[in-house]
Amino acid sequence: MTYFADLFIDGCWRPGSTGERFDVLDPSNQSVISRFAVATEEDCMAAVDAAARAREPWAATAPRVRSELLRSAYEVLTDEVDVFAEVMVRENGKSWGDAFAEATYAKEFFRWFSEEAVRIPGDYRLSPSGDKRIIVDRQPMGVSLLITPWNFPAAMATRKLAPALAAGCTTILKPARETPLTAAYMVEVLRRVGFPPGVVNLVTPVPTGPLVAKMIARPEVRKLSFTGSTEVGRDLLRECAAGVVSASMELGGNAPVIVLPDADLDTAVEGALHAKMRNGGSACTAANRFYVHSSIHDAFVARFSASLAEYTVGPGLERTNRLGALVSVAERDKVADLVTSAVSEGATIVQGGQSHPVGAFYDPTLLTGVKHGMRINSTEIFGPVTAVVMYDDVDEAIRMANDTEYGLMAYVFGQEREALAVARRLEAGMVAVNRGVVSDPAAPFGGVKQSGLGREGGSEGILEFLEEKYIALTA
Ligand code: ADP
Repeated sequence: MTYFADLFIDGCWRPGSTGERFDVLDPSNQSVISRFAVATEEDCMAAVDAAARAREPWAATAPRVRSELLRSAYEVLTDEVDVFAEVMVRENGKSWGDAFAEATYAKEFFRWFSEEAVRIPGDYRLSPSGDKRIIVDRQPMGVSLLITPWNFPAAMATRKLAPALAAGCTTILKPARETPLTAAYMVEVLRRVGFPPGVVNLVTPVPTGPLVAKMIARPEVRKLSFTGSTEVGRDLLRECAAGVVSASMELGGNAPVIVLPDADLDTAVEGALHAKMRNGGSACTAANRFYVHSSIHDAFVARFSASLAEYTVGPGLERTNRLGALVSVAERDKVADLVTSAVSEGATIVQGGQSHPVGAFYDPTLLTGVKHGMRINSTEIFGPVTAVVMYDDVDEAIRMANDTEYGLMAYVFGQEREALAVARRLEAGMVAVNRGVVSDPAAPFGGVKQSGLGREGGSEGILEFLEEKYIALTA
């Protein structure tokens, strides 16, 4: 497979100004699969210049034109879904099933926002005093910097690109260093379907932090949309403050799962398994803390363990493997270290707990005897490790679930009436009731507390890239 491994600036693929490159590795065996162009300050500034030049003409494009370009991107990605998934498997390490699911989810953002592009709402009303007509128009914010992580290299990018482009903003995409090939592949699709030069740009700056800061400091950049860690998000918010740049932030999570005493065991195990094992556990929405009522704890653990045992672990290109590699050996070692620390704090390994000698693989792992507050419970695990805390009192479970600075995702299993009552009390931007997966392009994705600001997807997602303009007319 040949990869696009250059920068994309002003409609052209080109190497960085110094010609330097960095390695992109296959996490399943550490081999170098590509060498990607390093973007220098000069390249980053050229990307901002190109996006700034394209801003007015793109904002003036008819919504239907923007819509149909996005729709074409969706159709190309549908035709090429296997290629799309394979790029992700190679550079991210995830299983084929996870990559295929991501490809399917990611391309849906182009379809959804192709439909939203032609439905941007406005408002018109008479003032209460009757002296004026109030027109509320919505205009694209302008040049938008989109920064994405490695865990969902396609979906996190389309979730930003699609609404930004639908709104009439021009974009600079900065993918994670571990996974630039998926981003480059998608940008090439956008070029092929006819997005004009400057509307979509791709840079991979090295060093990341200082060069991103320089882009944010450019007055033309009016929007930052970031998905990544809370720590980096805080730094970026500070950088945005200087120029009062609008920021949408999808940050870390520490999702609790509450299994109520009256939960249907099959539903709870199946849902909790999805919530944990989707994408190998490398998801900000991944179930991180399992609070299971003492009356069904043992049955839940036995069933969960039996289901985990069915996960075959190995390279994603072998399509029958259900669990792929973590993105890097360093990430795998972080997961292993969390398990070691949980055991030293008193947890028991029921299953797994092993790194593989070759590749960034870690076995599906189940821990019991975990206590609320252990490091494994206050840290985003980002791997295939299930940490079960047993509880007796539902109010106490809710208190523990809310006892975190994060508030992205929560899961509740139980009879619907009780589960809904618990869902309302959980401090999270999203709650799944009796199911393990919530993500949908038609729904607003986002967190409360330190998990983020703003929403992606749904009818809300496009609003993040638009700002109101009030025009007053004499009545
Ligand atoms: P993760 O734990 O998912 O790698 P990070 O927050 O470290 O989360 O990275 C998410 C994205 O933010 C990546 O594209 C990464 O390159 C980028 N990034 C990391 N540090 C900075 C920084 N200081 N400024 C801007 N972007 C950064």
